[in-house]
This record gives sequence, C-alpha cells and structure tokens, in this order.
Amino acid sequence: MKQRLIDYWLTNKIITDKDTIKAFEEVNREDFIDKEFLKEVYGDYPLPIGYDQTISQPTTIMIMTQALELKSSDKVLEIGTGSGYQAALISKIAKKVITTEIIPELVEKAKKNIKKAKIKNIKVIHSDGSQGYEKEKPYNAIILTAATPKIPHPLIEQLKNGGRLIAPVGPLYGQTMIKITKRGKELIKENLGSFMFVPLKGKYGY
Ligand code: SAH
Repeated sequence: MKQRLIDYWLTNKIITDKDTIKAFEEVNREDFIDKEFLKEVYGDYPLPIGYDQTISQPTTIMIMTQALELKSSDKVLEIGTGSGYQAALISKIAKKVITTEIIPELVEKAKKNIKKAKIKNIKVIHSDGSQGYEKEKPYNAIILTAATPKIPHPLIEQLKNGGRLIAPVGPLYGQTMIKITKRGKELIKENLGSFMFVPLKGKYGY
C-alpha cells in the first residue's frame, strides 16, 4: 500500500528527491484521516476531511513537496492546513512550518492530528492565508494548497529572495500548478501540469 505508492513514484520518476520520499515514509497518513476512510488511506485520490474540504491525493502532495526544493534550514508558509498532512511532510524536511487555515474547526482538527503524529515544528494559525502571514516573514518557500484565481501579491512579497512558491492557479474547475522562483525583481515561472483543488477563500480568493 504505502510501499506501492513509493515504487510507483520511483519507477516512473515522478518523485526522485530522497528527502521527499523519506518524509513520506516517516509520516503516518493514518494520523490525518478520519476513521471511516482508514481502509483507503493510501489510495491515490483525495479524501474528505469534513467541512466540504479534502486532503489531496498522495501523488499531488508529493509533487508539490518535491517542487518546493526544501532545505533543512528553511522556514515554510502553507496556505490551507486542512488535515495538517502536507504540513507534516514539509516539517520532516524543513526547519519550521507556519500553516494557515480559515475554517476554525479544521484548525483544531489539524492541531490534534499534528499532536498525534508527535510533530513539534509546525505552527497552525487561524487566519486568512490569502494575505500570507506577515508576522513570520520572509519565507524560503510558500505553498498554496487551495485553488487561486491568481497568485496573491502579499505571498510574493513575503517570499525570500531565492525562495520558491507553488500554487494551483486558474478557474474553479481546473488549475495549472505554477512554480515561481524569486530572483531579485525577477520571477521565474514554471508550469507543473493540471490539477484540481478546493477553492481559496478570503481577500484574494474567488
Ligand atoms: N493541505 C491540506 C489540504 C488542503 S484543502 C492537507 O494536507 O490536508 C484546502 C484548505 O484550504 C481547506 O482546509 C480550506 O479551508 C483552506 N482554505 C481555503 N481558503 C483559505 C484561506 N484564505 N486561508 C487559509 N486557508 C484557506
């Protein structure tokens, strides 16, 4: 189950970064999933986490984690905590994760999940992450795990020089995964393919 996913990623060269694979091995997805879906915990599709939100499919989460090019000294901002699973994977590679969630019940749920997983370097913040999180800026990497009509400019501002930002950008019914690398005033853009996410709310959402 878990190993089958790893084999699939390695064989097809979808995930080649060792740290990303190691993070996946270290985090129990079981800690972040409701009991009723435990049988499907390593199915490669999204699962409901309540409040009309979903935990993304493992392959998508891994592609995004790898694309962040994380280092052990990095401070990372996530917008869209959801279950806390994506933050947990990042926390195994980076130094510190600040993750923001707009639904208060999910903030509490994620905190519980993260505690279950015994992870200590994640801070869950109840706020509108579309505006970023000024207090802890600048970030080496920023990840948006909700679909956004365009990349909110505060996120670009809060990204460190040399920093990476990953976001699914586009209309509600389907987005392009965009990676931005900040080089001074220049933003280097890459397209990582087509995906579908739940919508971003808040000031810079839909
Ligand atoms: N990364 C999550 C899945 C994210 S689903 C995981 O690993 O489980 C997207 C999440 O973004 C939802 O929980 C939704 O409530 C949240 N969200 C939507 N708009 C937001 C905003 N403006 N600020 C913070 N969180 C937001």
